[in-house]
Amino acid sequence: MLKSVPGTNDIFSQSKEYAFREPVFRYIVETAQKVLASSGAQPIHTPIFEYAEVFQKGVGLTSDIVVKKEMYVFEDRGERLLALRPEPTASIVRAYNEHGMKVWPQPVRLFTWGPIFRAERHQKGRYKQFHQVDYEAIGSADPLVDAESIALMVKIYRELGLQGLEVKLGSVGDPEDRLRYNAYLRELFRPHVKRLSQDSQARLESNPMRILDSKDPGDQALLGELQVKPMLEFLGSESSAFHQAVQRYLERLGIPFHVDPSIVRGLDYYVRTAWEVHHRQIGAKSALGGGGRYDGLSEMLGGPRVPGVGFGIGIERVAIALEEEGISIPPDPSPDLYLAPLDEAAKGEALSLAERLRPKFRVEIGYSVKKVGKALEEALKRGARYVGFLGEAERQKGVVALKHLASGEQREVRWEALEEALGPVSGVQR
Ligand code: AMP
Repeated sequence: MLKSVPGTNDIFSQSKEYAFREPVFRYIVETAQKVLASSGAQPIHTPIFEYAEVFQKGVGLTSDIVVKKEMYVFEDRGERLLALRPEPTASIVRAYNEHGMKVWPQPVRLFTWGPIFRAERHQKGRYKQFHQVDYEAIGSADPLVDAESIALMVKIYRELGLQGLEVKLGSVGDPEDRLRYNAYLRELFRPHVKRLSQDSQARLESNPMRILDSKDPGDQALLGELQVKPMLEFLGSESSAFHQAVQRYLERLGIPFHVDPSIVRGLDYYVRTAWEVHHRQIGAKSALGGGGRYDGLSEMLGGPRVPGVGFGIGIERVAIALEEEGISIPPDPSPDLYLAPLDEAAKGEALSLAERLRPKFRVEIGYSVKKVGKALEEALKRGARYVGFLGEAERQKGVVALKHLASGEQREVRWEALEEALGPVSGVQR
């Protein structure tokens, strides 16, 4: 029997794992949609694969995604290289440029949700295919837009009912600030190059800031000894003022956050604002989402210079946090009616009646002829409110023998009167 690839998951209502239950997934997506739509953002769906260059240029050649070959790259019938998206921002900025959205009222604010692919070693909270809700505000360089993005992200978590949130705000500065910081880091690490891990030695020239992200114990120890100054101390006057402005807006909105100098986002194209939202209870893989400003990205993709800011929320991580906090998602409602044909000729009538009652009511039918006792059992298994028997006698009279399962009460109801007999609709229609 063939099985799924480890690190990928089937998401369905009866999944043993809470994080992969479809109603949980849907609750997260629908809540995010509601919050983002109320801000006037519009949904967009881009293809799940693109020319590999979109991501190579878009996430940057020194990012883990490219360097550690976390991208699923394949040839399109022996022609160009394609890649499954390892993050959504580059695709959305590509679409912004391709469809001339620069002439729309700015910023253009878009959101999407769907699968993301990274060839990582999988563990709880880290998968090869996972899902994100993603929001992008493209076309404004105002710190107000950064603050609004952070506020929208926090609002989504709060609307979901999450409490153990930590908003960590940082700034990766402007490119000039980073040049100065990288020069400082190279000078600091060079005398100790032999103690650095191989990965970090490679990063020393290409992107020394990434050494600060290293999980290698040797690198960690060295970092502790060297007392590395944070990037935040190297911000120029403009990026520093920008960072302050974002903080003032967040304070005004009453959003708790703390400035965390260690936030260095893994993607190369970020400038200025970078943030992560963590959850206190979910352990090592605690990041529920992250975001940042990427003013240079559009140009890297061959478009005009267009500033932008956005975030990605990890849907599975949020599901794990919801479970941790004991937040239960209402299950999908059970059927209002299970309509059971008692003879072959009643099957067609059962289907027509069901079609007439749907979608106002949740109606399931028996697909094969059953005896009364067996039909009742099937209705109970499904947790239906009513079972309707439809046999020869009922058909002759144009009625259904309708039994209310909770009370056991049974009566004959004319077909035209079924709607009234079933009402009012129970629960929310999902
Ligand atoms: P990133 O683009 O790496 O900042 O990811 C944004 C968010 O997606 C993270 O904060 C996580 O919540 C989630 N995430 C990232 N990588 C994975 C993964 N491999 N499996 C599950 N969730 C992930």
